Amino acid sequence: MGTVGDKRIAIVTGASRGIGKAIAQRLARDGRHVVLVSRSAAPLNDLKSAIESAGGAASVRAVDVGDGKAFAAAIDSIADELGRIDILVNNAGITKDGLALRMSDEDWDEVIRTNLTSAFVAIRAAARPMMRGKFGRIVNVGSTSGVVGNAGQANYAAAKAGLMGLTKSIARELGGKNITCNLIAPGFIQTDMTENLPQEVKDHVTQLMAIKRLGVADDIAAAVSYVTSDDAGFLTGQTICVDGGMTMC
Ligand code: NDP
Repeated sequence: MGTVGDKRIAIVTGASRGIGKAIAQRLARDGRHVVLVSRSAAPLNDLKSAIESAGGAASVRAVDVGDGKAFAAAIDSIADELGRIDILVNNAGITKDGLALRMSDEDWDEVIRTNLTSAFVAIRAAARPMMRGKFGRIVNVGSTSGVVGNAGQANYAAAKAGLMGLTKSIARELGGKNITCNLIAPGFIQTDMTENLPQEVKDHVTQLMAIKRLGVADDIAAAVSYVTSDDAGFLTGQTICVDGGMTMC
């Protein structure tokens, strides 16, 4: 994998597209060595090449974050090979929307496993390397759905609300080790996840915002950039809603 020098090592899950890709690009521009994680290797390899062409540094780990054993083993191998883990961004997520009364056990379980359990698995595996390095910045990517709820998203909102409790507990457990843990809760961001929603829904949501436009992935990446910076060492346990003022949570 090569030497990484003094660059901070940042793991970003869900880096193949959308918000995770923008976060990975931003952290690479910030001078991080970014470890790109998602299930499919091809888009990650393309992104690694793009980051390296721009003068940055990246590695690839194709793994299903919902497979706890495989994901934990991947994090262990990153720590072994790169020597440290400084930054962890738990961004990978899925939706399986439907009204609660008709929601299958499978759709409930898959969303909880992918969006919530994966973050716990990653934090548990990354905490020791962070403690050894006496530095850590953990960011969980939640959603305003987890803050205010959303009809048709009981599984997703429960997972994202669960991330808030996880974030606060980890902030309390690891704060004394110079490790922060925060939740970035995006509002409506234009990505593959939202592109198939009807235009009326997009227009309606835009009207609910103080800033009258839909968000873009770079809006979230900018927030993650600050929260993972060395400067953000006194910020922990927070839910930061990056939502154009939709919820003012
Ligand atoms: P996308 O659907 O565009 O991207 C999802 C990313 O997660 C992909 O890189 C995908 O890669 C990865 N992923 C999904 N499942 C797994 C898995 N089991 N293992 C590994 N990687 C996985 O979503 P967004 O970029 O829009 O969303 C990113 C995060 O932001 C999510 O947590 C989402 O809930 C949250 N969010 C998004 C909002 C929006 O409006 N877009 C609003 C609020 C929150 P691959 O399929 O290759 O594995």
